[in-house]
Amino acid sequence: MMIDYIIVGYGIAGLSFAFKLIKEKKDFVIIDTPETNSTFQSGAVLNPTILKRYTISWKGSDFLKFAKKFYVEFENEYNVKVFDKIVIHRYFSRKQEQNDWIVASGLKPLENYLDHQVINEYNDPILLKNGYGIVKNTAKIYPKLLLDTFKFNLTKNNFINKKFDYKKLEIFKQYVKYGNFKSKKIVFCEGVGIKNNIFFNYLPIESLKGEYLLIKSPKLSSKYILKSSIYIIPLEKKVFWVGSTFDFNDKSQKKTKKGYNFLLSKLNSFISVPFEVIDHEIGFRPVVKDRRPILGRHPKYENLILYNGLGTRGLMLAPLLSKWLYEYTSDNKEFYKEISINRYKDLYKN
Ligand SMILES: Cc1cc2nc3c(=O)[nH]c(=O)nc-3n(C[C@H](O)[C@H](O)[C@H](O)COP(=O)(O)OP(=O)(O)OC[C@H]3O[C@@H](n4cnc5c(N)ncnc54)[C@H](O)[C@@H]3O)c2cc1C
Repeated sequence: MMIDYIIVGYGIAGLSFAFKLIKEKKDFVIIDTPETNSTFQSGAVLNPTILKRYTISWKGSDFLKFAKKFYVEFENEYNVKVFDKIVIHRYFSRKQEQNDWIVASGLKPLENYLDHQVINEYNDPILLKNGYGIVKNTAKIYPKLLLDTFKFNLTKNNFINKKFDYKKLEIFKQYVKYGNFKSKKIVFCEGVGIKNNIFFNYLPIESLKGEYLLIKSPKLSSKYILKSSIYIIPLEKKVFWVGSTFDFNDKSQKKTKKGYNFLLSKLNSFISVPFEVIDHEIGFRPVVKDRRPILGRHPKYENLILYNGLGTRGLMLAPLLSKWLYEYTSDNKEFYKEISINRYKDLYKN
């Protein structure tokens, strides 16, 4: 039997694309091993602002708006809570930043996100005393619950828990064949696993390692996210996600003492209440030099499609990207050149 799509990789890219396929009544199978799953490790904040440079990410408002709609739709579909609106308290490292904040908060489109007021009263147990501002209209996702729920609701035939073997893919003009599956198209969403993809590993997608801690701290508020040079994100039962590091050079799967000490020292100079470190984890973000995702058809094989490079904001980007990718693969609708695979066509050697 011919199906419409094989999806390789079940992170937010694979999940949101499959969700779109269900809506469009298309057949698909997902093939995944969760070895390098970035979505699962994510801080999962939906925030389009780049606070270091007081700007917003490319089409950030469009991505955020669509993502919020998507996660609410997901919640309604599966009767589960995977999304919370939550503001970020951005603590300044220097008093001078207060002026920068006030100026930026009056500019479009940042005014939609940066509350104009700078606050100098501290109700929270915070050591930094240079004031803070509130980033509004932001949200967070519960990625594990999201992934588990969607998978649970798929049929057995929709999900194969196996490593995809690229050498076993047979490519024909109108379809591809993989084991017993014949499919019109195959979409590769392997995150940093792309390095093993013999068809697309010419692309400049790198892994950016991030270490983070899970801490328990009964005296910290769970009502908002705290941010200085690190994020402190409330999960449940007074557990907080604290991260993260950014390391392009270290490709090892190991947690490092250096990462642990870095996060601990940042935490100790940020909050003044006791906490217990209950876990130390790592993840790898699939990043592209120009900080844009890469989507599109293989230069030689039309039915091989790439969906990768979601970088540091994949949870926010994927819902709208999946819609665009679907329209591209089903109706040949072109998308923005900024995210098209064509921008790297010169790197492809036949
Ligand atoms: C520490 C950290 C913090 C982050 N914080 C945020 C945040 O706050 N907000 C935000 O929006 N984003 C955040 N991100 C980024 C976000 O997590 C990623 O952009 C996103 O998860 C990438 O999703 P993906 O679906 O492309 O890849 P992944 O989630 O990595 O999924 C790819 C899947 O494919 C599988 N796979 C790979 N190769 C094969 C193969 N050959 N066969 C079968 N399966 C295979 C992998 O094991 C994995 O399960 C963070 C990332 C990290 C690491």
